[in-house]
Amino acid sequence: MAGEATPAPVARLIEELSRLPGIGPKSAQRLTYHRLRTADADARALAEAIVEVKERIRFCSTCFNLTDTDPCAICASGMREQAMICVVEEPLDILALERTREYKGLYHVLHGAISPMENVGPEDLKIRELLQRLQSGTVQEVILATNPNLEGDATAMYLHRLISPLGVRVTQIARGLPFGGDLEYADDLTLTRALAGRRSMA
Ligand code: ZN
Repeated sequence: MAGEATPAPVARLIEELSRLPGIGPKSAQRLTYHRLRTADADARALAEAIVEVKERIRFCSTCFNLTDTDPCAICASGMREQAMICVVEEPLDILALERTREYKGLYHVLHGAISPMENVGPEDLKIRELLQRLQSGTVQEVILATNPNLEGDATAMYLHRLISPLGVRVTQIARGLPFGGDLEYADDLTLTRALAGRRSMA
């Protein structure tokens, strides 16, 4: 790790990088020294990209996906099926589903899942906002694509109870996904099958 032989700016970058998810102290060191060897312009481009993400990226006020325009490109697109909303836990899940090129409807990001263990209740998620989107009567099907784990299933069950009385069809993606896995890590084929095999919730 950074010791007395490490100049303060180097130590600072190592420290900052090691706070990123999945980056241990060794990787942070390696990335830092890699940066030291690259051209000034490259370093500046990276720094600017990080600042720009924080300054320009916000949540879509309709679906709560990450976006630099509001509404986001998917919500604003005339090509998407307006009668279908796929509900996911995180923005990364949308990336995974979009990679399959199978799904043509809209999305809604909950920003988490119900978890009594972690003190996350329905009011902490974008559930009220989802119900508001269903008011207009345009949406005919809500596809629940929460993660295949206890929290994801609890959230799907909760949403099913809430939405079915509104006369909207509620389906859940097929459980081809391994239990305990994360949607965002599922491969394209598995996701395509999970979408195609979605079933009405009983
Ligand atoms: Zn949107």
